[in-house]
Order: sequence, then C-alpha cells, then structure tokens
Amino acid sequence: MQTDIQIARAAAKRPIADIAARLGLTPDQILPYGHDKAKITHDALAGLDGPQGRLILVTAINPTPAGEGKTTTTVGLGDALNRIGRRATICIREASLGPNFGMKGGAAGGGRAQIVPMEEMNLHFTGDFHAITSAHNLLAAMIDNHIHWGNALEIDTRRITWRRVMDMNDRALRDTVVGLGGPANGFSRQTGFDITVASEVMAILCLARDLADLQDRLGRIIVAETRDRRPVTARDLQADGAMTVLLKDALQPNLVQTLENNPALVHGGPFANIAHGCNSLIATHAALRLSDYVVTEAGFGADLGAEKFLNIKCRLGGLTPSAVVLVATIRALKMNGGVAKADLGTEDPAAVAAGCANLGRHIENLRAFGLPVVVAVNHFAGDTDAEIAALRDYCAGKGVQAILARHWAQGGEGAEDLARAVVDLAEAGGQFAPLYPDDMPLWDKIQTICTRIYRAGAVEAGPGIRDQLAAWDKAGHGRMPVCIAKTQYSFSTDPALRGAPEGHVIPVREVRLNAGAGFVVAICGQIMTMPGLPRHPAAETIRLDDEGRVEGLF
Ligand code: ADP
Ligand code: MG
Repeated sequence: MQTDIQIARAAAKRPIADIAARLGLTPDQILPYGHDKAKITHDALAGLDGPQGRLILVTAINPTPAGEGKTTTTVGLGDALNRIGRRATICIREASLGPNFGMKGGAAGGGRAQIVPMEEMNLHFTGDFHAITSAHNLLAAMIDNHIHWGNALEIDTRRITWRRVMDMNDRALRDTVVGLGGPANGFSRQTGFDITVASEVMAILCLARDLADLQDRLGRIIVAETRDRRPVTARDLQADGAMTVLLKDALQPNLVQTLENNPALVHGGPFANIAHGCNSLIATHAALRLSDYVVTEAGFGADLGAEKFLNIKCRLGGLTPSAVVLVATIRALKMNGGVAKADLGTEDPAAVAAGCANLGRHIENLRAFGLPVVVAVNHFAGDTDAEIAALRDYCAGKGVQAILARHWAQGGEGAEDLARAVVDLAEAGGQFAPLYPDDMPLWDKIQTICTRIYRAGAVEAGPGIRDQLAAWDKAGHGRMPVCIAKTQYSFSTDPALRGAPEGHVIPVREVRLNAGAGFVVAICGQIMTMPGLPRHPAAETIRLDDEGRVEGLF
C-alpha cells in the first residue's frame, strides 16, 4: 500500500506552462514559480471574459474522526469530469503550516486523487501565507507605533482588537503582553496571537475582486476603538497602501495540477469557523471563465461550510452554483449512528441507517437553497455491500442519488459515475437563492441560520449583543451576511451530539464586525483561533530521507 506522499512523488507531472495552455493561458499570462507552480497574472485576470462554466460545490456530512474526504472527492470529481470530456478545473484552499505539523493530514487530497506538488502545497508553496502574515503584522506594528509616537487618533489601548498572527500551532502565544521593558519599547498592553488562517486579512484576500477592492477592504478593517468608542480603521493608520503592496503577488491565484494533469487553482485558506472557509473568489471567478466546470470545496460539514459558501461567498461574489455533491462515508455515518471509532471495522448496516439522519438533514438544508444534490459515497476498503445498500435505501427514500465513488483507490476513473450524475444535475440546473436577503436585520439573519440550518429551538444572546447588532444595523453595516462560528461536529453547540439534533438552544456569546471582509461574526461556543499541538505532533516524525526528500508529511 503506497502512502499519499509516495503516490504524489511518483506523479508524472507536466510543465506548468502546458497546464496553463490547457486553460488557454499563454506563457506571458502566468508567472512560473519553478517548474510545477505558477500564478495567473493580474493582467490576465483582468482580461478574462467570455462565458462562465458551471460551479459545483463539494461539501459533506458533519465531520467525524473517521474522515470524510471532501478534498479527495473534489479532486477525483475534477479528474473524472475531464475524463468524460468536460473541461474541469478544481478550486481548493491552500494548507496552513500549523496543523500539518500537528495532526497528520494534508490539504491536497489523498490516494490517487491528489494535487501535486503536495509537499510544497503543504509547506511554503508560493509564499501567500507569509505575505498575509506580514501584512497583518505590519498593521499590528503600526498600531503600537502610533501609540508610542503620541497616539494622535486617541486609541484606547484597552480596546485594541487587532492581534498578531503566525502560521503555526502555538498555544503559548494565545495570550501575551507586549511593550514590556520600559518607555523605549512603547506602552505595555495585553494582546495575543491567532493562526494566520484566522486573520481578517486572509478573509479579505479571499473575497477581494482585484487590487483596488483589496486595498479598499484592508482600509475598512477596524482595529480598535477610541476612548469615546469611535472605530479606528487601518485607513486611519494609513496602513492600507503598504499592506496592499505586501499582498499584491499573493492575490494572484496559484495554478498547479492533479495526478492526472488536470488544472487546479489552489488559493487562499480562511478558517471555516470565524471566517467563510473557502478558496479565493478571484480563483473561482478565473476558473469559471477558463473552464466548463469548476469543482470547489467548502470547509467542515454542509451546515457550516456550505452555508457560508452559499450565503457569504456566492452572495458577495455573485456566484450561482449549479449542483452540490454531498460527501458521505460509511465510516462517518456509522459514527453518526453511535458507533465508537474503535469499532468501525465491524459491519453494522443498522448504524449506517441510524447515522443517515445526519445526511438527511444536510440534504434538506441544501435543497432549501434551491440546489440539486447528489450524495457521493467516498468508498473505503472496509465498506460492506450491506452497509452501502443501507445508505442507498435511505437516499432513495429522500429522492437523492447515492453514487459509489472509488477515486481514492482508482483516480478519476473511479468517479466517472459521479461525474455523469453531476453533469446531469448541473445541466438540468436549480433555482439558487441565498437563505436570507441582504436587508434583513443582523439579529434576524443569525436567527434564520440557527433555526433553519441548525434547527435550534431558540437562539439566546449574551448581554449587550442585541444592542450591538442593532447599532451596526443603524451604522450601515446591516446589509452584511453573518458568519456563524460554532463547533463543526454537530448541528448543536455540543460537539458530542452527533446525528440530527433539533430544538436545542444556541447561545451567541460574542459578535464581531469584520468590516473589511464584509461580514459579521457571531461566536456560538468556544472557538479556538490559535490551535495547540497534540502530545505527539506530526513534526516529531517529519524529516528528510537520505535522498533529501520530505518524509512523514503524510
Ligand atoms: P476533508 O477534505 O474532508 O478534510 P480529505 O479529502 O483531506 O478530507 O481526506 C482526509 C484523509 O482521508 C486524507 O489523508 C485521505 O487520504 C484520506 N481518505 C480520503 N478518502 C479516502 C478513502 N476513500 N480511503 C482511504 N482514505 C481516504
Ligand atoms: Mg479538505
């Protein structure tokens, strides 16, 4: 059995200019980063017109430790669409360094459905995350510097919300004090670090249409309040220009290829809890202009990831998806049906049937957006015929096709049935509409998502939250969509509650205005914006082998 990295290393990669040519891009429209990576230039992006392809979203049931395989299925489906004669491009997120050195598991797919070069994609890649980290921290440095030199803006040092970021899992940095050591080092104050993917700059890069829009959004970032509670923005600090300079290359999407030499744009990677969790709008727009089909993935399960993809990214970017692929695995359904991870090897069709309640809930939710849905059963070696039949029966009862997909073991060939089903659905089309209109008040938006998607019986707001939301409505921020930050493991706020709970209470603990990204975050439950490493991090076994190749990454 080959590991993901062994398969990736054996890939017969084509020069990146050949992949670009498949998209109709000439050598001067790309900026090569070595032999197998390139960025699509701003000039080329600006010149893209012509018809748009069809957008396919890959999402999944609620994640479990059993693994679902959204990225693997996104890649497999993209390869399969190309095999059946559709020009398809894959759009996924870049990987964060932190988790790669923590828990095993990359972001480039798996088995025979991967994107290459996987080592680089999972490490420094084209430096985008470094650029985002630098732009974010430049703004942080300019805040403390402004205060040091007299604080003309009258920033209240107790009300600075802009923290620093680093692309590493490092719990020791969650809460820090800066400015210690005397007057020459500025004013001391308490702050902390988040991981780079949690930065608002990341969300902004992923929603900006072009460089001008990027700078506009960066300028709107609210970093602090004054003593009389007026917002202080990055533009007030005159940081937006320099931040844009740091990000100008990073805004260009990265072109790489699958194991089967099909084009993939890998760009941006915001968190799927406190941000919207999908690749950049600029990459998706470009891919739609360059291909018949674009297959893209949203983070976590459909309740968090697809909801945000549809209500935030599609709304802000004017995107209309044609169909949704809902990934399920027999293993994860069994876990949703109450089976412990250690017992997943035992055949249990009854548990599959019980776990289907979770799947069914997601099917209903996706249909509420007016979208046609197909279930992709990402096949694992241990799945039995009886278990697959249980899943098929459930889906038949819901009027949804469930298609067995073997792309992990077989590459694109194993997902051709899925590809044909997707084409049929996409060509028939749906009637996509976001769940709520722009002009609904912010609190009502939160309630709409919590009751219609999470099926909560009630939404409770902590002290001051309703007033804060009403104040933002009044101040002209009310047209923004809402981004709910909650556990990805359950429809409720209790991560242990699998299946399809309903009638629960969702408490909103805190709300944040991301004026640059253009959404309001509602925090429901404990959300970690700086992860830690596990007792035995993957970093302990990652090394170079005798030939200088990366070992142990996956
Ligand atoms: P997600 O995008 O949902 O987080 P990934 O596609 O990244 O999931 O897959 C997570 C892990 O599971 C990867 O290491 C991948 O190789 C593995 N995996 C995915 N599908 C299968 C499968 N059918 N059989 C075995 N392993 C799989
Ligand atoms: Mg993924």
